[in-house]
Amino acid sequence: MHLTESCDEDSPHIITHVETTAATTQDVTVVPSIHQALGEKNLLPQQHLVDQAYTSAQLLSTSERDYNIDLLGPVALNVGWQAKAGLGFDLSHFKIDWQQKAVYCPQGKRSYLWKKNKSVYGKPVIYVEFRQRDCLACPVRSQCTHAKTNPRGLTIQAQSDYEALQKGRERQKTEQFQKQYQLRSGIEGTISQGIRGFELRDCRYIGLAKTHLQHILTAAAINLGRVFAWLEEIPRAKTRSSHFARLADTIVC
Ligand code: SF4
Repeated sequence: MHLTESCDEDSPHIITHVETTAATTQDVTVVPSIHQALGEKNLLPQQHLVDQAYTSAQLLSTSERDYNIDLLGPVALNVGWQAKAGLGFDLSHFKIDWQQKAVYCPQGKRSYLWKKNKSVYGKPVIYVEFRQRDCLACPVRSQCTHAKTNPRGLTIQAQSDYEALQKGRERQKTEQFQKQYQLRSGIEGTISQGIRGFELRDCRYIGLAKTHLQHILTAAAINLGRVFAWLEEIPRAKTRSSHFARLADTIVC
């Protein structure tokens, strides 16, 4: 079950969409259908806060392009050995000239191959390769490739996806991102409320359609309770901390 809720400070936090899928469905695959459903209900947000399981380079760019939504969440880091070592030349060290379909390496060498390809997930990617003679003679080769004789090759995403991912990686380093992202924790409270107060994890019916109906009814009940609390000016509960965390705070203070 994937819940979407509003999180404006001055109004009740209302569940705006309920998506029910088989448990094996990957989170990242449901984002387009959630946006489509929200659009049909005229409830598209300007910004959609999600955890990392719901972000990908392609989703960052298509959410903005198709729905004008800023999809905000942690994005995958560069996992190549060059990035992990911190001393090697990962993709961020290369300059891409999209017009000329060429990439320039940290030594200023220009790639000779630019080939459209598909990733293992069927997404469009571009394979780039440098000249063997340049790479074999390169004085910093060990920071670039572990290949014995082959030149450095790079796989890059389509331009819009690549740029959206780089933007996301830069943004998640900022304090503003951390502050905005804190709001996402509210949905964890909603899921907890559904599980503890409404037995959300106990599926009473067989089949996705009936299960979805159960989820819709649960969400409607939660919404009614929230609207009532808002009308009665009952403040939202604060996040609880464990006895141990409270004790640790007391000792520190
Ligand atoms: S190994 Fe090749 S791609 Fe890497 S820095 Fe040297 S010349 Fe450039």
